[in-house]
Amino acid sequence: VTRSKKYLFGSVGILLVTFTALQTYFENGISRVSPHEPWPVSEKARQLHKQLIIGDWHMDTLVSRSDILTRSTAGHADIPRLREGNVALQMFTTASKVPMFRDHVSNSAHSPDAISALAAFQGWPFATWNDLTERTLLQGSRLQEAAKQAPNEVVVIRTTDDLNNVLARREKGEPVIGGLLGIEGAHALEGKLESVDRVYNHGFRMIGLQHFFDNDLGGSLHGEVQGGLTPFGKQVVERMDELGMIIDLAHSSETVVSNVLELTKRPVVVSHTGFKGNCDLPRNIPDELMKRIADSGGLIAVGYWDKAICDATPEGIVSSIRYGIDRFGVDHIALGSDFDGGTTTYLDVSELAILTEIMLQKGFSEMEIRKVMGGNMVRFLQDNLPSSQPGLLASHGAVEPENPAP
Ligand SMILES: [Zn+2]
Repeated sequence: VTRSKKYLFGSVGILLVTFTALQTYFENGISRVSPHEPWPVSEKARQLHKQLIIGDWHMDTLVSRSDILTRSTAGHADIPRLREGNVALQMFTTASKVPMFRDHVSNSAHSPDAISALAAFQGWPFATWNDLTERTLLQGSRLQEAAKQAPNEVVVIRTTDDLNNVLARREKGEPVIGGLLGIEGAHALEGKLESVDRVYNHGFRMIGLQHFFDNDLGGSLHGEVQGGLTPFGKQVVERMDELGMIIDLAHSSETVVSNVLELTKRPVVVSHTGFKGNCDLPRNIPDELMKRIADSGGLIAVGYWDKAICDATPEGIVSSIRYGIDRFGVDHIALGSDFDGGTTTYLDVSELAILTEIMLQKGFSEMEIRKVMGGNMVRFLQDNLPSSQPGLLASHGAVEPENPAP
């Protein structure tokens, strides 16, 4: 073997190793569970946990995993682990553009994009490489594929009829999970108002207006300018109101939150957050704004990671929930794990019963536990999802199939 051939083989080898390492990093390495002894859960808590209807407003598993039906040892969640945690309703969020090196203070829209790298390393269809809407539809189709393959395990909820079906089946002892689709960051609309209808027709029912950077709808809480709602942002909110899509204000700037609350008459959701009064970090908006959200009928979903709640242990999560209940009312607090969202947590979703355990230890009433763990989410969805029919909007542009073209 000549010297140059050796050199060539060496280079190819190094490239392959780097590629595999990066692929593993993107799929497994970002979201972690801190090593810990199995959480002790009493028989009383176990029994109560089994009876609860549990719902969560924010989980990013679809962003990096195409197969959610198989149990993985990496990250935080998949259908088998959701089932073990007794989760009934899960909002599956999608992310289309995320700064590779990000923080909770200030991010540029032009820094290198982690989702582009993910698309390249996982070999996503070419259409997704430069189109954020296509990336969103691809991630959404992963849930729809799972529901098609395993209708006894997971169902996509688009209407209150779908919701009631899932609840009735679970009541009969079927362990089916109701998945909903949400968008994290409405730059996924690519600046087109028609995209709202397009994602709605694909089954999406919630849109978070911003993510890590200021976008064409308005400022992010971690953007460079952190401004208010733009004219396009206003149009999108109005269209979402007409369609009955849920507005998520997690990651939105304080001014955007305020502008949206003035604009919409419907209640909003903060899908994953902590409370500034309890954990004074830049990831959280002031309690006065949270109070306006709660007072207009909204839900505030508590996350499980340190940058939101300061103490990410199960005790810490429960003490944030307690703070929320005491400050904003038990009807306005919910779960918003941010599982698989690049977070490090002290539990994966299969270990959720530890929250019920700690709540019992801390003297929560059964009513409080039921509402926070999922009762409030059920009520909110009953009030805010369209009532029946998938609601394909023939009158507002082309009706598309539920799944994007491969
Ligand atoms: Zn987020």
